[in-house]
Amino acid sequence: MKIEDKLFLDRFRVEEESHLKITDADKCKQCEDQPCLNLCPANVYRLEDGCIMVNYEGCLECGSCRIACPKLNIDWNYPRGGFGISHKFG
Ligand code: SF4
Ligand code: SF4
Repeated sequence: MKIEDKLFLDRFRVEEESHLKITDADKCKQCEDQPCLNLCPANVYRLEDGCIMVNYEGCLECGSCRIACPKLNIDWNYPRGGFGISHKFG
């Protein structure tokens, strides 16, 4: 099964406020490799007009971006109870 097919099985209950926030946008501009753009399996981080945008709605809550950000620049929290991802099969 392809990753896209597996992701299709996930369901999301989206909170109004993002559970992921960039702490300091200027630090992102000084971040050489910007690993968040490539490591997120859900493509939550995107570059728009030179700024990192966070499309938190599709976050899989894997925690990879929190660990990989070299500048510790992501304020990472789980969504409130009842929100976020739910897996259809386990
Ligand atoms: S890895 Fe961290 S510092 Fe670098 S662009 Fe992404 S959020 Fe910004
Ligand atoms: S926790 Fe995982 S899925 Fe969510 S934004 Fe970070 S890398 Fe992407």
